[in-house]
This record gives sequence, structure tokens and C-alpha cells, in this order.
Amino acid sequence: MGLVPEGPPAMSDFAGELTRRLEALRAAGLYRELRRVERQPGTNLTVAGRRLVDFSANDYLGLADHPALLAAATAAVARQGAGARASRLMGGSLGVHHELEEGLAAWKGTAAALVFATGYATALGTIPALVGRDDVVVMDKLVHACVVDAARLSGAKLRVYPHNDLDRLEAMLRWADARTAGGRPLPGTRPRTLVITESVFSMDGDQAPLREIVALKERHGAWLMLDEAHAAGLLGATRRGLAEAVGVADRIEVQMGTLGKALGAAGGYICGSRPLVDYLVNRARSFIFSTAPVPAAAGAAHAAVQLVQSDEGAALVRQLWANVAAVKHAGGLAAGPATSAILPLLIGDEGGAVRAAAALRESGIFLPAVRFPTVPRGAARLRLTVSAAHTAGDVAALATALTRLNHLIRPPGFSDASAGPA
Ligand SMILES: *Cc1c(COP(=O)(O)O)cnc(C)c1O
Repeated sequence: MGLVPEGPPAMSDFAGELTRRLEALRAAGLYRELRRVERQPGTNLTVAGRRLVDFSANDYLGLADHPALLAAATAAVARQGAGARASRLMGGSLGVHHELEEGLAAWKGTAAALVFATGYATALGTIPALVGRDDVVVMDKLVHACVVDAARLSGAKLRVYPHNDLDRLEAMLRWADARTAGGRPLPGTRPRTLVITESVFSMDGDQAPLREIVALKERHGAWLMLDEAHAAGLLGATRRGLAEAVGVADRIEVQMGTLGKALGAAGGYICGSRPLVDYLVNRARSFIFSTAPVPAAAGAAHAAVQLVQSDEGAALVRQLWANVAAVKHAGGLAAGPATSAILPLLIGDEGGAVRAAAALRESGIFLPAVRFPTVPRGAARLRLTVSAAHTAGDVAALATALTRLNHLIRPPGFSDASAGPA
């Protein structure tokens, strides 16, 4: 049993209870702690004074310290201040927010866009605004935690289909048809089914069969919400995401994305019709009851939206795919066309994943273990991500570090989740 901090009896009882819970996490190999890092330019960071190469960030294009974003953030601060001072519906709807939203809508080719302070807040506000107790949410088993939390919060009936399993999705849509055929919750409306998937999955890096999902949701009159967090800025002719790449963007009701990954800033967005955005302004509680995003984030995100559409954006994406190919080669992973910048190195056992991450740190590579509940139990992994900003030297350092780990890592697609390393 751990130390119980001193204090009044009730307080020490509280601390003691939490300490016991933490011990249980530790015993299960699931204890998490913060590691203080200082970012260096590019892909380097220092941890306790040691310089490491970061292979875990979502800054896929290296925009987080791009001069255009830094300048836009600084200009936004000079123009509107450090903080937004109020929620959007009070005095906080600043010019920088509107410029960002107009830029997002123009980029995505939608009538309108709405920005939230984070991607998490985007899902948490949007899903419960769109569906409630009389409705059904059908979602992929591997959608992000913010979608799961939002779907639960909505009170809708939830159905979860095995990852990318179109047959099970269709069966659930048929079940939902029968269920939503009846009642009329509001005059002029009827119970609805909302399908939710990611386009590129955050922990596995694979893609949803989006064309087929769109066809299915249309056949069943369902709505589709697509989270492009790991595809926006990377996929498609103008880097709008997977929906653009497969030509179905105009058939998706709700296009979600984040501004803190390939776009290098912070925030989340919904792109879609004007009624959708007007409706969310009225009903999305995480939008209504929260201070507007800081000007610096909105300014930087707006610069990033412009940048990803430019020739420079195209060149950065080409560099990214070249780096992905180089990392796959260096790590002995299967070659083949890059579908994302996320390359999971599956380990399985939680303790083994933590040991592998520590060994990599010793070799100068920053790549923390990802464990339950971020991924299923027994599916712990090193979630390797590649950036256009990685240099040939970075990739060589990774290759050297990985060869020391070969005995811990199993090839992608492993099935025996219980067999961890010795
Ligand atoms: C990161 C992420 C989010 C949350 O976005 P934040 O801006 O980090 O809150 C939502 N969905 C997916 C798929 C993500 O990977």
C-alpha cells in the first residue's frame, strides 16, 4: 500500500482511496505520468536535458513551428489580445474566428464552417446537438474517445460495429430502420440514425471504406459524421481529407476535423451546410458555454488552412509520404502505398510496450507506449508517426534504435492479444 498523505481524517481518507486506485493501475501496467519535454526546432525535443527525436507527434507536416503560423499567431495576438474574453455568442466572436471559418468552408467546399476550441469539444457539442433519446448512433468500434463520450452523452441508442465491418454496419442500419420508423419527437422531424466513423483511424492508421459507408447510409436514409482528424491536410487533391480523395465530400452531412494535428495549431471544426452550422450555434453546448478559442490559435490555424492548399502544402505532403516510405523501410515494415502517417508497432503486453518505449528513449527516440484505454487491453503499441519535418538523420536514428527492439515488436495484424513478450 502506498503512503497516505497526512491531513484531516476525511481528506486523508480521500487521498488514501485514490492512492489505492493508482496502485491498482500500476499493478496492471496502466499507470500514466507526465513527462516534461521542451520542444526544440523541428522534430527534436529534450527530456531531462537529453535531446531525443520525436516520432510520436501529430504535426505531420511540421507546421507547428512554421514561420507563417508563428507570424499569424503573433499578428492575431497583437490585433485581438491573448484571450478571447467571452464565448462566441457573447462578445467573443472575433474577426480571426470568422476569417478562419470562412477559410475552412472555402477550403472544404462547404457552405459554412464552425470552429470549437478543441476537437474533443467539437464532438462533445455536435453529436448531442444532432441526436437524442429517440435516435440511434451507429459507430465504428475504433472511433476516438471523444466520439464515444459524445455519443453516450447524447442519450441516443448506441450500436458499435466491428472495425470497418460493412456487413455488421448494414445489419445495424436495418435494425435502426425498424426502430426509428415510428414516433415523431418534434413536429416536422422523425427519429434519426447517425453513422460515425473516422476517415484515417488514429491508433491504427488504416482507412475507413468510405465510399461503401456513404452508399449504405444513403440506402438507409441515415446521416453520416466523418472525423477527418488524421486525414485533413494530407489526403485528396487539395488536402481536404479522405472524403475528397474518394470523391464523396458532398454526400456527407457532417465533416469534422481538428486543427491541432497536420494543421499545426489547435481547435476543431465542423464543415457542412449553413443550416447545420446555424443549428450548432444554437444547440452545441460545448460551443455555447465555453470561451472562444484564443486569437493566437485561430490565427495560426487560418494560416495553416491557406498553407496546406498551396504548392508548399503539396510539397510538404510529398515529403511526408517519402518519409513514411523511408521509415517503413528502416523499420522493416511492409512497403506499399502510404495510407496515413501513423505506423503502429504492435507489442500487445502493456509492460512490454512500456519497456520498449524506455529502450527507445535510451537510444535517443521519443515514442511513448500507447495502452488501454486508448487501445484495447492486450493491444498496447508504439504509435509511430512520421512528419515531413523528419530528416534522413532522424530516420537513420530510428532504424538503429528499432533493430535493438526487434524481439519485442510483432508485425501488424497480430491476433493473439494474450501472448506478451517474456
Ligand atoms: C485528436 C483527435 C480528436 C480530438 O482533437 P483535439 O483537438 O486533440 O481535442 C478527435 N478525433 C480524433 C480522431 C483525434 O485523433
